[in-house]
Formats: sequence, C-alpha cells, structure tokens
Amino acid sequence: MADKVHILGAGLSGMVAAINLARRGREVLVVDGGKGLGGIGGLHPSVHSTPVDPAWMSAQVGVDVTSAFHPLKDFLAGVGDRLYRLDPGPVHAVERGSRKGSIDYLLYEQAREAGVQFQFGTYLKDLREIPKGSIIATGLQPEMYDYLDIPCQITRGYASVGKSDRQPWCGSIFSTYTDDYFYTNCANKLSYSLLFGRKKVSLHALEACKKDVKEKFEMELDKWEFFTGRVPTGSARNPRLFHDGYILAGTLSGAMDPGALFGIHGAILSGKVAADAVEDFDGAVKEFKRLTRFYRLAYYMRTIFSRMPRGLDMFEFNRKHRVLSYPMMALASLSIPGYRKGLWSREIMKGAERIR
Ligand SMILES: Cc1cc2nc3c(=O)[nH]c(=O)nc-3n(C[C@H](O)[C@H](O)[C@H](O)COP(=O)(O)OP(=O)(O)OC[C@H]3O[C@@H](n4cnc5c(N)ncnc54)[C@H](O)[C@@H]3O)c2cc1C
Repeated sequence: MADKVHILGAGLSGMVAAINLARRGREVLVVDGGKGLGGIGGLHPSVHSTPVDPAWMSAQVGVDVTSAFHPLKDFLAGVGDRLYRLDPGPVHAVERGSRKGSIDYLLYEQAREAGVQFQFGTYLKDLREIPKGSIIATGLQPEMYDYLDIPCQITRGYASVGKSDRQPWCGSIFSTYTDDYFYTNCANKLSYSLLFGRKKVSLHALEACKKDVKEKFEMELDKWEFFTGRVPTGSARNPRLFHDGYILAGTLSGAMDPGALFGIHGAILSGKVAADAVEDFDGAVKEFKRLTRFYRLAYYMRTIFSRMPRGLDMFEFNRKHRVLSYPMMALASLSIPGYRKGLWSREIMKGAERIR
C-alpha cells in the first residue's frame, strides 16, 4: 500500500479520516471539487440538525467537534394542521460550509494542523486518477454513485437561506405535500430551510409549504433555490466499506439513516472507520457492520411507511401510546449509524405538548 493516502472529498467523513491518518504519521492528500472549503453544488452555507452527543462522538473519532454543535433551545413540529412543542433532547444544530463556526471549518483547521494537504478545484467524474485503496467520501454528489454503480435515490426540493437572530432552534413540518418533510434550522445567526422529497416536489407543494411555514413559524421565505442530491437508499443492502478496491466513507458508504436521512452522525463516525480500514481491514469491517447494523431494518420500515396514506397520524399515536410505539421509536433512534446514546426519539416525545 502506498504511504501517501488520497482522499476524495473534503467533507465531514473525508476530513475526519484525514485527521486520523495524518496524526498516525501518514502523508495525506485530500482532493475536492469545490473552489475552497464548503463543497460544490451550492449546498452550503446551511444549518443541519441531528440527535448527537458531541462529547461522546468526539471521543469516538478522536477529533474534538464539540464547539460546532449547538443544543436546540426550541423544537417545534407541525403535523398536518397541528403544531407541537417537543423536548429538544439531544438534538443539536450544526452549521455547514466555509464560514468560521461551521463544522467544516473546525475540521479543516484541525486537518491543516495535523499536516493534511488539500487540493481544491479538482472535480472528478471517474476514479482513474485516484489510486486503489484511496478513501472516497463524496457525499450527496451523483458522480461516484454512477461511476461505482452504487444504488441510490434522488432527493430534491427547495432550499432557502437567510439571517436570523434566534437562538438555535428547529421547526419541522410533516404534511401531505412531500413524502419526506420540511425543516428550518437556525444557528450562528444563520437560518436554513429545506423542503425535500424522494418524489418530485412540485411548485404547488412549495406554495403550500410557504403558507404553512408562515402560519406555523411566522416566517416569510421568499428566495428558494432548487436543491438536489443522491442518497444511498437505493437498496436495503447498500452499506459498504469497500467497493471496487476503494474505501468508502460518509453518505456514499451508506452511513446514513434511511428514514429521516440524518447523515451527519454516520458521516463523522464512518470517517474514523475509513481511516482504520487503511491499516486494519478486518477490524474496520467489523466496526462498520456494527455502525450500520440497523440500516436494513430501517430501510424496510421506511418502505412500508412510504406506502401508507400520508395523512395517517403516526405522530399522535406515538405521543399518546408511548409504550406501544416503543419498538418503532427504538428503531428510529438506532437507524442513525452509530447512535448508541439512549433513544432520542422517545426523549423528544416525553414533553411533547400540542400548542395549536
Ligand atoms: C443541504 C443538505 C441538508 C442536510 N440536512 C441534514 C440534517 O439536517 N441533518 C443530518 O443529519 N444530515 C443532513 N444532511 C446530510 C448530511 O449533511 C450528509 O449526509 C453529510 O454531510 C455527508 O457527509 P460526507 O462526508 O459523506 O459528505 P460531504 O460532507 O457532503 O462532503 C462531500 C465532499 O466531496 C466533494 N465532492 C463530491 N463529489 C466530488 C467529486 N466528484 N470530485 C471532487 N470532489 C467531490 C464535495 O465538494 C464535498 O466537499 C444534509 C445534506 C445536505 C446537502
């Protein structure tokens, strides 16, 4: 194996892998298609939210990411006509992109300090220039799914970015106008809203969503950009650490929750596993399987739900019958790759109150 390790993708998993390898004395080159930090395709700046224990996660991957995660001060959920206030539990907001305060910036600083080299502005459509054994960590971009023939789904919709003075918070809406959902996240004075679906999101849906957002969250969002990306939910068997002689990391490896598409948690943990895979094949495979062991079950659960009528009131059922809904809530928690710190979906429902 060559001493110099190549990593394609300067996102979460690529940089976590790079930091770990450089600290072990490896020469590391990270190649990315973006002009600089923050990725390609105009996806960022953005604010994501995820259930996470930042201190625990930092210890797992050997990289301190705690300062990038902001515990939510408020968490609202709209379901049809109703609005609920949830307990934020372990849900945190995290900024993405190139700004100071984003997790990408935090990782980049640590990577530079560890001696990682970066080559930006090199967007690859195939892997002929990247040696076998390299780490491929290209997130939601389509090329590597196509080149490596990895089953995927297209996710698409509309995104809106703006300024905000609010404390970190998240508002989500589950409605009949998308098969996924709408969310708005806020942190570091930045607000990011996304209406997305794995089926087409029509302009009619966007208008209905805008009206809903105004009524429920008193937010007027006017500027929307079309958003699209690939997610690894094309097959129940998708999670894979090795493929075609390459090591995969992050969303491309299937380290994503197939239900709600939480991808931050799995990307960070799988970056560490990818670094381990450079030196310890068997150990890394074992750990990767452990991280993603609920993927298949969650995939089938999502498939069943996507065939049920959209108006079905699972939220109210879960809120009122927490004992009966326990297995479903447990699966929703465990399907986030590597999530092992309690059942977040139960925690957020504990104090759920209907406010409208
Ligand atoms: C807009 C948006 C909102 C999201 N919201 C949430 C959320 O709220 N909660 C949550 O948990 N998850 C969310 N996700 C998912 C989560 O962010 C991703 O799963 C996670 O970032 C994946 O990390 P990664 O390391 O796989 O890739 P990324 O962090 O996306 O990094 C991929 C990198 O690879 C580079 N790249 C890609 N293709 C090429 C190529 N061919 N050649 C060269 N460079 C390339 C890109 O420029 C980028 O820098 C969201 C994703 C997006 C895009």
